[in-house]
Amino acid sequence: MISNSSMYPPSHAKCDHEPSLLQVPAETQKRKVQSFNIRTEFKAMHDMAELRVGAEAVRFVIHRNILTHHSTFFRAALNGAFAEGLSQTVTLPTESLDTFELFLHWAYTCTLDPKAYFKDAKPAYYVLLHLYGLADRLAVEGLRNLVLDTISSLADQTNSVLTPSDTFILYDTIPSSAPIRRLVLDLFAFKKTDKLLDEHPDEWHPQFTRDLVVKLKRPEEVAMQRHTLITWKPEHWQESMGCAICSEVLHPYGNHVGCSGCEKKFCNRCAKAKRALCVFEDGRVVCKPWNGKVRCRIYHEHVETAECP
Ligand SMILES: [Zn+2]
Ligand SMILES: [Zn+2]
Ligand SMILES: [Zn+2]
Repeated sequence: MISNSSMYPPSHAKCDHEPSLLQVPAETQKRKVQSFNIRTEFKAMHDMAELRVGAEAVRFVIHRNILTHHSTFFRAALNGAFAEGLSQTVTLPTESLDTFELFLHWAYTCTLDPKAYFKDAKPAYYVLLHLYGLADRLAVEGLRNLVLDTISSLADQTNSVLTPSDTFILYDTIPSSAPIRRLVLDLFAFKKTDKLLDEHPDEWHPQFTRDLVVKLKRPEEVAMQRHTLITWKPEHWQESMGCAICSEVLHPYGNHVGCSGCEKKFCNRCAKAKRALCVFEDGRVVCKPWNGKVRCRIYHEHVETAECP
């Protein structure tokens, strides 16, 4: 575990060009918490809860409904018969004040402030990773999904990935089962990151490099899940193509499988295997697992929150 102070260095995130849009679209941010409408429910929000955050125990007085709506943790603490429930006070001594304030901003608005995670013309992934860690500890599924979406969008819009120090936050403070772990490995596997991994002067988290090697060596479901597969059959021999995985010629005398997104074709055997190697692909249209509707299926959690449309 790296020390808390070293988790907040100036970001070294690779950034090739200025992004045109740094904010996740508003409809993406707001759809996560569909059953709560602050405009209509605010008038019924009379009860307050007190939170004491960080080593200095900074005091926040927050609408109780906001906390219990979003967070299983606060529901258990504030609705229970324990000291927290009786006093309506919860202490979070090890949480960072900055990260907690980002959570509060999201809890009231269902949006993230891009200025918080894009600093000095670079993505500050460490801010989002700390927020994901807090959302995990407070059991806030909607925020975890939104942070994952925001990291996906930032990575594409700025053509960047996490820095070595970010991988320490990811591996030392976020559980191994968290979908964000898979997303980050996929970003490195499907984006062109060989030079970055080879030449970056800082150390990557050792478990991260091990996981990445395994991901690149072993056929993975995500490499097929990212496609939108449909039945495909060439009309003539001139239209026949090779399977994108095994190169078998796909003739006009049978049904094969194609992707309606990137137009890759597959033989039935490879499509049924549902696994392929994760590799960087250069091309006009490339299916990335974190783009479009497949992102929900591959990475989102929807136990507490409504499915994405
Ligand atoms: Zn595809
Ligand atoms: Zn094949
Ligand atoms: Zn979803």
